[in-house]
Amino acid sequence: PLEAYEKTRRSLEYDLKELWYNIRSRQGNLDENDLAQMQDVYRTLRSHLIKLRAADGYEAFREQETAELATLVQDRLHVLQNPKHCDTAKKLVCNLNKGCGFGCQVHHVCYCLVVAYATGRTLILESRGWRYNRQGWEQIFLPVSDTCTFSGTSKRDDFASGKTEDSRVVQLPIVDFLKPKPDYLPISIPADIADRLEKVHGEPHIWWVGQFMKFLLRLQPQFQNIIDSHVSKLGVSSPTVGIHVRRTDKIGTEASLHSLKEYMVHAEEYFSIMEKVHGQVKRRVFIASDEPSVIAEAMNSYPRPEWEILGDAKVAQSASMGQRYNGAGLVGILKDVFVLAECDFVVCTFSSQVCRLAYELIQAKHTDASERFVSLDDVYYYGGGNGLVQVATAPHKPRNDEEIELKVGDKIGVAGNHWNGMSKGTNQRTHRKGLYPSYKARNLIQRVSFPKVKWWLQ
Ligand code: GDP
Repeated sequence: PLEAYEKTRRSLEYDLKELWYNIRSRQGNLDENDLAQMQDVYRTLRSHLIKLRAADGYEAFREQETAELATLVQDRLHVLQNPKHCDTAKKLVCNLNKGCGFGCQVHHVCYCLVVAYATGRTLILESRGWRYNRQGWEQIFLPVSDTCTFSGTSKRDDFASGKTEDSRVVQLPIVDFLKPKPDYLPISIPADIADRLEKVHGEPHIWWVGQFMKFLLRLQPQFQNIIDSHVSKLGVSSPTVGIHVRRTDKIGTEASLHSLKEYMVHAEEYFSIMEKVHGQVKRRVFIASDEPSVIAEAMNSYPRPEWEILGDAKVAQSASMGQRYNGAGLVGILKDVFVLAECDFVVCTFSSQVCRLAYELIQAKHTDASERFVSLDDVYYYGGGNGLVQVATAPHKPRNDEEIELKVGDKIGVAGNHWNGMSKGTNQRTHRKGLYPSYKARNLIQRVSFPKVKWWLQ
């Protein structure tokens, strides 16, 4: 009964949002008062759902089960990374120097750790000469292993799925060069914990990635102190909405420009719903950006006492192009990512790896944090990994040339959600690409038996 109940409760929340996205997209054609009333009904319904979850009697179970699963994954990673006999252990060597930003590099390391886990190998992370810190990863983060940090040999075989099982030391290329792609890459989840995970989490694949990020991003004490004092100096405390505004080099190449207001309407929405549940709350918003002027704009346009805008323009300055790849740039991005991860909710663009990283880390801090986000562009994805597939839960007859037909059970490779009630994707049965109503499909997360899934028992 719990599984069916949870599925229905999450569906209610998902479909309600889709209904509102659809109404909201008709803004110009609707009477202002009608729209305001519909928005208030929507917010009221969302607040009922929050109260329903709090009162359904399952929250203690959700919390305990999520905590147990987190301990299980962290313990497994610890065992994997600290083999009894390092000299004879099988190893996977991964080089941090992917020529991209911090978020992208951390996703690269996370992919390496997933492959290490799936193939039962200890990850050896090589990071000397890292663009953010020449001396390497271990100066900033705890080493990925306490006992086994060198490959011990210069003889390495290039990773080849299914062919290098017997090699002792294997070198993993960046995911872009991996062919064929193993099915265990994100966004797949491990079959052995999938039932438990799906019961307590709305987006189990993001929680799974979040656990790997949590393991990887354990700071060295001196950097932890820097972050802790930054968080307390800023004054972040619950509830805070985190907004990440990615500008500079990203605009026009990989993402479109979004005005500050586009982000802030979602902060407003979040607090309005919270107020229906808890009574008046402080509208506290933390802004992270690579564009310093955004923070000043927010402070001017959303003044006290109605709003409390938190942000550090100096940190944003350190992120601007030309200054990014050095010690200050690194401390800056660490501050912003970890503060975003402390927030109760994030509004950002999932096209940015910084934003996806923050959202993954949030999953490790709450019990089912799958609803704690708004993305202004992409749906969540894992670059280079397996793409999102949905399954049709209702039939759909195309109403125009842009739409595609759905039969219940059809699988759809998702290209994106237009956040107006419609999603775009390719029906794998008909091979037709086009639009379909988002509420007529649900995520289908691949469950994969990780090849060496019993290694920690040996
Ligand atoms: P993406 O380009 O947004 O997908 O993310 P990447 O992490 O790959 O590269 C962007 C880089 O720009 C980051 O790693 C940071 O160095 C910098 N950056 C982007 N946004 C921010 C921000 O909000 N704060 C700080 N401090 N740095 C940022």
